[in-house]
Order: sequence, then C-alpha cells, then structure tokens
Amino acid sequence: MNMENLISKKMRIFAERNDWMIRDSYIYGKEQGHLFTGIDGKGIKSFITPVPGILRDQTDELMQLLEKNSSTMRLEGYDITDGFLCIRIKDSTSLKTDDIEFILALLSGILSDLSIVTANRCQECGELGADKETYMYDLFCYMHDDCATKFDENEKGVETADDVNSDDTDNSDVSDPEAEAEEGGALDRNNRQVSTLRKVLFTLAGALIGSIPWLIMPYIMDMVNGLLNSAGSPDWVLNLVRSLITCICAYLISYFAIVGYKLSGAGINKSGRWMIGIISIAFIIIVQFAYLAVLILKEPSVKLTFGNYMTNLVKYNFYRDMLIGAGIGTVFALIAVLPFFDSSKGKTSK
Ligand SMILES: [Zn+2]
Repeated sequence: MNMENLISKKMRIFAERNDWMIRDSYIYGKEQGHLFTGIDGKGIKSFITPVPGILRDQTDELMQLLEKNSSTMRLEGYDITDGFLCIRIKDSTSLKTDDIEFILALLSGILSDLSIVTANRCQECGELGADKETYMYDLFCYMHDDCATKFDENEKGVETADDVNSDDTDNSDVSDPEAEAEEGGALDRNNRQVSTLRKVLFTLAGALIGSIPWLIMPYIMDMVNGLLNSAGSPDWVLNLVRSLITCICAYLISYFAIVGYKLSGAGINKSGRWMIGIISIAFIIIVQFAYLAVLILKEPSVKLTFGNYMTNLVKYNFYRDMLIGAGIGTVFALIAVLPFFDSSKGKTSK
C-alpha cells in the first residue's frame, strides 16, 4: 500500500524538502513555530495552521493583510474556522515548490507581525504552555496533555451523534450576520459551506427588494412635488431633492444586495464583492427600463404598450434620463461596495 499516491508529486517534494511528515492525504510540518497541515486538492492546495485564542482585532488585521497579499500569495480563499486558519492556494503548473515555501514563510511572517503567538498555545483551552504536538480532526496543533485527554474523551462521547456535524451548518446563527461577526470565525465557517448559487440568489433577492424604492420613485416624487409646491419652493430645490432621492434609491439597491449576500450566511470576500457589485449594477440598469414603464403606468391617459414605451424612450429623450440614472446608480453601487474593496488599504503598510 503506497499512501504517498494520495498526494501530488508537488506536495510530496515540498514535504520532503522541508522535512514535513506525510500521512495519508495530509502533510504536516512546522514553520517558525507554526504548525501546518497541508491538504492536496484538485486545483487548490490548502494549508491550515492553528490560531487558537486569536483576538477579534488580530482576526480583522489578519484578514486585511491576507486580502492585500492575496495575489502575491495566490490565494483562492482563506478563513478561520474553530481556531484554525485555512488558506487555499490556487494550484497550477506555475505554482512551484519554491512558491509554496515563500507563501508559508510570508504567512508565518504576517502572524508574527500581528503578534499572533501560536507556538505552544493549546488548541483546546487557548492557553500557552502546551507542548504536546497532536491532531484535532486530523489538523496539526498544540495541546496540553490534560486538554488532549479531555478532548479525546469528549470526542468518543459524541462520536456517534457527531457524524453529520461536519457538513451540517448551524442554521441558527446563519440568519444573524451581526452575531456571527461577534464570533469572528463563525462567519468564515459558513463562507466555505455556502454555495455560489445560494449567494447569487440571496444577492439577487436583496437587490430586487432594494430596487423597490427606485421603482416607486414617481409616486414618491408626486408627494414631494406636492409638498414643495405648497411650500412655494423654487425649481432648483425640487431638482436637488430629486437628485438626492435618486442617489438614495441607487445606494439602496447595492445596500440590499449586500444585506442579501450576508443573509445567505456567507462572509464577504473579494469574489463576493464582485458578485454584489455586478448584480447591483445589473439591477440598476434593469430598473432604468422598468422605471419608464412605471412612469407610463402612472399616467392614466397613456397605455403601457411597446409603441408608447419606445416613443417615450426615443422621441422624448427618456434614454438620457436613463443614462444619467444608470451613471448615478453605478457610482452609488460602487460606493456601497467599495468600502470593502478598500478595507485593506492604509492600515497594512509597514
Ligand atoms: Zn490546554
């Protein structure tokens, strides 16, 4: 039986060159005091290192630094789950053993820079002074002798009931992004298990709900017009208010798209932001067309027919309003999404 066949040549060479241990489909090793578990996957090489007792601030900074370095480190993703940091490296023929070494050295450096002390920190109780190198769910970590014994006993006790636990996301906290954020790792735990389809559907639903204010804007404007006219406001005030409401409506689409995305249980990462941005802008464009339909519907004397629609669109230059609306909308969609794009800037330069 040759277990080494379970891992790729690249991982085996990496393990051998760095004195890592090969066990089944996993490789285990130590870099600057940090214990690592390497898992070979199709197109992805995952490296998992314990970060027990990591503080909320450290988690935030770590996530920002990983985001900032994600192209250097060829990261497909990263998260902290149950006190373990997992980075997923995109595998391709261009990924050499040297690159893996470089990436792990960089990661170890980042952990040291953030004063995340993981050497001899117990995975079970989070305290220092754990000198036993052991495994928790096949992941390499430190534990106190006592804690390891306690952990093993607990595991034996719940083993039968726990079989489905690994792929059973606790739905009770999925619906509350705030509570997850408090837990730090919980948000990331879900991220890995939330399917792309679910994320897309939730984001679409959010954007759809967020589009409602813009679609009923003709009615809102009627009310606003009435109010402002009775107060004798000049035209420019009306135009200003109108622009302001347009901006708010545009912002709400991407805002609700973000809310929808988060409600799917996923944590926001780079691809998530792209998804939210693209869906928001798509909705903003669709809303421009729907908006004209609403305007026509609102007018009792005009029937909503294709002919009428096109007449308004082309002859009465409504397409100009649509372009302006889409322009404003895109800007605000990006403003809503951009804080996340930008989150790694400023703080991370050393
Ligand atoms: Zn302990």
